[in-house]
Amino acid sequence: MFWADRIANEIRDSRKPKNGVRFVIRDEKTLSGRVHVGSMRGVAIHGLISEALSAQGIENEFLYELNDFDPFDAIPNYLDASRYDAYLGLPLYKVPSPEPGSENYAEYFGKEFVGVHERTGFHPAYYRTTELYGSGAMDPYIRIALERAADVRRILKEVSGSEKDETWLPVSVVCEACGKIMTTRAYDFDGETVGYRCDSNPDSAKSCGHEGRIPPWKGTAKLFWKVDWAAKWAAKGVDIEGGGKDHSTKGGSRDVAAHIAAELFDCPNPFDVPYEFFLVGGKKMSSSRGRGSSAKDMSELFPPEVFRLALIGKDINQQADVDPEGESVPRLYDWYDELADGVRAGKEDDYAKLFAYCQLPDTRAGFSIPWQMRFREVAFAVQMPHLNLEQEAEFAKGDSLTDEERTALAVRRKYAKYWIETYAPEQFVYQLRETMPTNALTDEQKRALGALGDFMREGQKDGDAVHARLHALKEEVPIAPKDLFQAIYLVFLGRTSGPKAGWFLAGLPYDFVVSRLSEAAK
Ligand SMILES: [Zn+2]
Repeated sequence: MFWADRIANEIRDSRKPKNGVRFVIRDEKTLSGRVHVGSMRGVAIHGLISEALSAQGIENEFLYELNDFDPFDAIPNYLDASRYDAYLGLPLYKVPSPEPGSENYAEYFGKEFVGVHERTGFHPAYYRTTELYGSGAMDPYIRIALERAADVRRILKEVSGSEKDETWLPVSVVCEACGKIMTTRAYDFDGETVGYRCDSNPDSAKSCGHEGRIPPWKGTAKLFWKVDWAAKWAAKGVDIEGGGKDHSTKGGSRDVAAHIAAELFDCPNPFDVPYEFFLVGGKKMSSSRGRGSSAKDMSELFPPEVFRLALIGKDINQQADVDPEGESVPRLYDWYDELADGVRAGKEDDYAKLFAYCQLPDTRAGFSIPWQMRFREVAFAVQMPHLNLEQEAEFAKGDSLTDEERTALAVRRKYAKYWIETYAPEQFVYQLRETMPTNALTDEQKRALGALGDFMREGQKDGDAVHARLHALKEEVPIAPKDLFQAIYLVFLGRTSGPKAGWFLAGLPYDFVVSRLSEAAK
């Protein structure tokens, strides 16, 4: 069974909504910079569970928290460190936006990330962490956590082995003097206020030394994150919340949060959906690899339905892996086309289900499945200025194109051009050589190209005919196949590999082929 349906059935058979009406699904992202595509997997998994429940008529709501309250703890390498150094340690909502037009840093990166959700067809209900805390909705849980700080410390030690000293309290206060949250340490709760000092100095964030007392309500303080997580489940009545599998180990943050939620807040652990990573070129989220790894960059490489396939195509316990600079881009399109072929042929299995879920929810009811030219063929054709893409597509299809297929081709052309111009690896980038390379060929290769030129001069040939002639030439000259094909790619493309040679030569302008071959034979 398709994974989203399997999970929806498990939820249906094992849970009742806490609020008695509808299941609450929740996910969250801290907006500490440009969001990695890996976080889109969480959006897609929660979003698809919501869609799968809705498809069964089970009411649910998908909440998404844009975390703008966590500390700004590192400067991403694409920002000016000298400009941002002074803001380290502040809550994200107090850090300025990199560009004008956004209220703050978190809003800027949040807007970009939400834009990716929208074009990929995921529409959760958003709220900000500062709104949640500012509204006072977290205050009852802050009070419990402070009154029972000893229990929090005991659970941390029992479940995760982490020891805190006896004055440690599970809140971070926003310093009234310098505004930072990462540099304060709360040590005393008298029932209404906490005492704190701004004197811890984590890494580069400077603390100001201020000491004071403050009522920790309505956004003046934030819960320690594993307690914060548990408190949000209680405050929002969360029924379903998954997370990256790294959080779901025994003794890990999920385990700690689940114990705190149950023991302090009388709140059962939400239905967990631990999922595998979304890798970029085999690598986990890392800031070292900037280009192409953000949700925005990756989403711009594909039409929404193909990007959705990248996000939801693998079961949650399998890694997804896309490399913008590798063959995985055309392979993803091939996978999409394969699903489309199956559905067009009337298949009604899991793959048909997956294909339907790849379509945007708004268009899913009446979607149709136009024939499509393979992405790698489109990517080649768009680089050959003399080729008429529509004719090539009709040739590949063996029939004329419908209006819908023509529209689909135009979309694919746009994405293919973008990929070739941005990330495509060398093996997919072709540029016809304007001049013949000198001293590049052996005598054997010259003889072979001369004979090929004689054949071409007889008149326009199709790809099959050129292909057959190339195979015959290997025996006649004789020449090793590798030497023959390398010679062809060398004189036309200035490289030693390329597309299927017969098809390639037949597609080039006839006069150009004939003159280049005779020049090569000299
Ligand atoms: Zn301070």
